[in-house]
Amino acid sequence: MAKCSKCSRDAIVYIRYNGQYLCRYHFIEFVERRFKRELRRQLRIRGHIRIAVGVSGGKDSMTLLRLLLDVLGERRDVEIFAVLIDEGIAGYRDKARIIAEKAFTEWGVEYYVGELHKIVGYTVDYAASVDKELNPCTYCGVFRRHAINRMAREHDADVIAMGHNLDDVAQTFLMNIMTGDVRRTVRTGPHIFVQEGLIPRIYPLMRIPENEIFLYAMLRGIPFYHGECPYASEGDRAFYRDVIYRREQMRPGTRHAMVNYYEKVKKCLIKCYPPEKLVPCEICGEPTSSEERICQKCKLVERLRSIERSRVP
Ligand code: SF4
Repeated sequence: MAKCSKCSRDAIVYIRYNGQYLCRYHFIEFVERRFKRELRRQLRIRGHIRIAVGVSGGKDSMTLLRLLLDVLGERRDVEIFAVLIDEGIAGYRDKARIIAEKAFTEWGVEYYVGELHKIVGYTVDYAASVDKELNPCTYCGVFRRHAINRMAREHDADVIAMGHNLDDVAQTFLMNIMTGDVRRTVRTGPHIFVQEGLIPRIYPLMRIPENEIFLYAMLRGIPFYHGECPYASEGDRAFYRDVIYRREQMRPGTRHAMVNYYEKVKKCLIKCYPPEKLVPCEICGEPTSSEERICQKCKLVERLRSIERSRVP
């Protein structure tokens, strides 16, 4: 059994990208140190602030909520509440929701649940069953972003904290490169600018790999739902996850290098691609940069309606 690189205790984990063996104590400290540093970097608290935490019931968002409560929960100038969006994915989100709601109650957290079928009129399961061309993740991502922004704003949030980890951010960056979407690269969180109607997002876990968050949650006994979304293998993300995983195995530190690069490039790109002017969507009133003044959510809702109309005999 290897010893911890920082003390004489037995190590429980080997961190390949920095060559350290860590015991339970120093591993927990290693995770929390990076979380606090990233939180300080992304969140400047000036006066009273309300933080909406996007919680799905999975390991990342449950860990994020626990860490935010631990670090900021006692401060009088900070209020933290959870927002859970139920996309209507049977056998997945319903199970995660039960675990999350139980934890919210036990931890004494103010929370709000938004159900997509009430907010946009459709569930992801329904969209997946009728639209065989578009990926369910497209519906899920667009509807969920719309719902979480709306709910956070309605409950007076100043900022939305999301549980995106190092792997998520590296995958998103690679996806944006592959699709040539420069504007999306600039728009993607963590947000370094504020736009009217859009609550800025922070990603305090973005320097911590997914497997370390999993281990941290297990060691601290943070409850979370282990299951995988039934649509997870259908999205592009699964491909990019695999590519980055294989590269990380060959060259430990690849994900960190990608995310560091992404942050530097984003600061330069923003000068050439400043934030687009947002206008209210003509249908729902939510902010959009679309030239037709119709937001992505309303375009997808219209797509589902037109599929329904075409099926009426
Ligand atoms: Fe939504 Fe796709 Fe994630 Fe499932 S895998 S929760 S459908 S984005």
